[in-house]
Formats: sequence, C-alpha cells, structure tokens
Amino acid sequence: MSRIVHLVQEPKQQVVARCKSCNGPIYPNELVYQLADGNIIHRDGNCLWEYATKAVAPRKLSVEDALRNA
Ligand SMILES: [Zn+2]
Repeated sequence: MSRIVHLVQEPKQQVVARCKSCNGPIYPNELVYQLADGNIIHRDGNCLWEYATKAVAPRKLSVEDALRNA
C-alpha cells in the first residue's frame, strides 16, 4: 500500500508590525513589549535587551572611575 503524503502549504501570516529593535516581522497574536515611547518590540529573544542597551549606552568600568565621572 502506498502512502500519499499531502503537503499542505501554510498560508503566509500577515505581518502586523515591525520590531523596533531587530526590524523583524510581528505576527497576529504575538506577545510584544510596548515601550513608553510607543515602540513595539518582540517579547521573545534579546530584542528588548538590545534596544535598551543601545538607548542607554552603558559603559563597563570600575565604580571608582564611574564615581569620578559622576
Ligand atoms: Zn525583534
């Protein structure tokens, strides 16, 4: 008996928004963060971390050097 496999092509999901961090697509029912500035960011992955890091531009240094700069 031969098996016939039907390949059903999933319909392409509509992109409803773009992530402000990675510019990737955001699909219906996806969980996101909405920031105080209104921007929408993926909730999965590193998008929020990367966006925040760019926004506040943290520098790595010792506390003594940080206090000298304060
Ligand atoms: Zn993203």
